[in-house]
Amino acid sequence: MPPTNTGLNREVIPAHTLVFSTGDAGDAAYVIESGSVEVLAGPPTALRRVATLEAGAMFGEVALLDRQSRTATVRTLAPTTLVRIDRAHVDELLARSDPVIQYLLRLLLERYRSTSGAPGASAAALPSEAAPGESVHSAAVRTLSLLHDLTQALESDQLALYYQPLINLQDGRRVGYEALMRWRHPTLGLVSPDEFIGLAEKTGIIARIGQWGLRRAAQDWPRLRAAHPDDAPPFVSVNLSAPELCTPGIVEQIHACLQQFDMPMSALRIELTETTVVNNLQAVIDSIAALRALGSGVALDDFGTGYAGLEYLQNMPFSSIKIDRAFVEHMHTSSRSYFIIQSALELSRKLGVNTVAEGIEDARTAEALAAMGCHIGQGYHFARPMPLDELEARGIQER
Ligand code: C2E
Ligand code: CA
Ligand code: CA
Repeated sequence: MPPTNTGLNREVIPAHTLVFSTGDAGDAAYVIESGSVEVLAGPPTALRRVATLEAGAMFGEVALLDRQSRTATVRTLAPTTLVRIDRAHVDELLARSDPVIQYLLRLLLERYRSTSGAPGASAAALPSEAAPGESVHSAAVRTLSLLHDLTQALESDQLALYYQPLINLQDGRRVGYEALMRWRHPTLGLVSPDEFIGLAEKTGIIARIGQWGLRRAAQDWPRLRAAHPDDAPPFVSVNLSAPELCTPGIVEQIHACLQQFDMPMSALRIELTETTVVNNLQAVIDSIAALRALGSGVALDDFGTGYAGLEYLQNMPFSSIKIDRAFVEHMHTSSRSYFIIQSALELSRKLGVNTVAEGIEDARTAEALAAMGCHIGQGYHFARPMPLDELEARGIQER
């Protein structure tokens, strides 16, 4: 039987040998099994010893977890046996660990950075979830308990998809639905996705939530299709964050999931929501291209806000862009918002992509956007997001 890979390797190193130097990539941590090492700091020409470490001590762990380069040099003093813990192994363990543990570790690293002056250090790196006047501690406790509850939510059927109609602004017909996630928390009531999606994205749990949402939408598809007996099939927009679209095999997973419920790929539109900087942009581009090749639409969500900007539009083959509510709600009071919408519409015409405007709350806005050539609209003026049962009960005539 081949030995199991524990990710731990023993290294025997002669005396007076470098283990690593300042500036090296921090790709492993070490535990001293026997022997001793010295830790050296300062400029390369004037290194001075800042510590000696004996059997049982660990070193190199911060660079390992924090993905920073080494900030010190380590050299053996005597023949030394080290147990090497590789980053790939730690990453794998972390990915499989409880999201609460992942979050705690992230918090500790941010705190370490903000107090140590390490690269990326900033006092603001402490939990961003802290509400004004709330202490960091109570914000952390609140976040942790929410995160804990979220892992339960998946198992105990507390998540739901609501559907909000998407309207063709030119003829007033309903052409699709955006699936929006809801969490029915046992004590807090309905929790908004703005509260839990961001949290889920910081841990591995977003992948499971995303899979759940896709599966739910595919399961609901026959009922949504049946609500449009005399029309072209509606499309269903599902939100996925960029880290989810980077996951290896994601497009195959989506395809298999839809096939299971006889939902055509052409009825799916993925909305790429963008809340964090993506490390692997190429993987996102590849997934979008693969989805388009299979016939699905891909929309750039929240266009004009956050990271979702022109660079994305340049590099990724979107089929539509969604103009963020932030512009739509001010289009009659701010000429800047109006001009931004106008430019976005012109840009999409030139790029040959569809446009969807979110957050339409009155007839005047709907008419103005239609006159400006916007294709699709969404907002409380037409309908709020609602459970599928309610949607069916109302029928598609009533918007
Ligand atoms: P979004 O993708 O920009 O979705 C549109 C949001 O605007 C929804 O908020 C919707 O309820 C709200 N909305 C629609 N029409 C109006 C209107 O006329 N006026 C106002 N004031 N609001 C309107 P919601 O459902 O709270 O979702 C918030 C965000 O959470 C979404 O923003 C999306 O980024 C994220 N989200 C929701 N479901 C999922 C999901 O399944 N996966 C992922 N990754 N993100 C999701
Ligand atoms: Ca969206
Ligand atoms: Ca938005």
